[in-house]
Amino acid sequence: MPTKRDYYEILGVLKNAKLEQIRKAYREAALRYHPDRVPEAEKKSAEEKFKEISEAYAVLSDSKKRALYDQRGHSGIDQKYTYEDIFKGTDFSSIFQDLSEFGFGDNLFDQIFGDFGFDLSGRHKKVRSHARDLQISLDITLEEAAHGCEKKISIPRHDPCPVCEGTGAKSDSKAIPCPHCNGKGQVVSKQRFMQVIQTCPECQGAGKIIETPCLQCHGEGRIRVTRRMNVKIPPGVDTGSQLRIHGEGEGGQGDLYVVIEVKLHPLYKRKGDDLYTHVTIPLSTAVLGGEILVPTLFKNVTMKVPPGTQNGAKFRLRGKGMPILHQHIYGNEYVIVDVEIPIHLTSEQRKLMEEFAKASRNAA
Ligand SMILES: [Zn+2]
Ligand SMILES: [Zn+2]
Repeated sequence: MPTKRDYYEILGVLKNAKLEQIRKAYREAALRYHPDRVPEAEKKSAEEKFKEISEAYAVLSDSKKRALYDQRGHSGIDQKYTYEDIFKGTDFSSIFQDLSEFGFGDNLFDQIFGDFGFDLSGRHKKVRSHARDLQISLDITLEEAAHGCEKKISIPRHDPCPVCEGTGAKSDSKAIPCPHCNGKGQVVSKQRFMQVIQTCPECQGAGKIIETPCLQCHGEGRIRVTRRMNVKIPPGVDTGSQLRIHGEGEGGQGDLYVVIEVKLHPLYKRKGDDLYTHVTIPLSTAVLGGEILVPTLFKNVTMKVPPGTQNGAKFRLRGKGMPILHQHIYGNEYVIVDVEIPIHLTSEQRKLMEEFAKASRNAA
């Protein structure tokens, strides 16, 4: 195994360099070695370089790791940290933002360190791991969420142009090095005492331009299509549930995420797997008890109300709530009773009510 180079040497800074100098050196080196900005033949070595400078930056920008390295060198670092741990907690995000001004994509670190499976950009973990993933949101009713359903969806996306097979070039035409940047993908301009490296405006950093563009896609290499398909929604989904459909992202390469939005229901309120509903019952039923008909998402059921039921009393219908995703069990439905106080009484009802009032006084 070749000996590891000195971190300070890698970044080209002095042993007593201040953090700001280290950050500046890393930023410049990152610009130089970004694998997207170098000719194809140098990609592999640029990628290695990029990893090397990023590791040096990760250690030297962290005061604890830097002190350990100053004291014990590479062996001190390697004994205490795994390769992955070296990068943990490193502030790549501000560097990252600076770099994005130079036209670097969001996936800079993912691209190079992708096999680590962790997010080096320092931002909150992304749900989407891949730039080619697509996401759509899908509104469904509560009934559809309860029973499961099949939905037709159409997704606008870009597929490789079938005429030029994605190259963007008319057949027999080819890509030539961009004359503006000599194929480098970036141009250097001097501003006062600073050298500014910018993405080439002619080739947008690709380093190549197409001699004669494909007529079908105007040189884009891809065309807009609308992909239609059916998706099966399993019973029990809730707002925010995601279905991942493999291979239906951009160009048919990434994944498609269908994010469920369950619409509000006029009758039910959902809390997790439980449903809450209000049912109005007559005063006499509340007093004397009886049976009432209660709606559920599956079919109406009869529910017993005990004598002396109070307004606002809550009853549980076990297992009549939402199905629990991928399980054969259900939540509960809670029925809240609203006792109806009659407003208009017939003369007979009034007479009976007065009798009731009199009897109540006597009983007291
Ligand atoms: Zn084309
Ligand atoms: Zn160019």
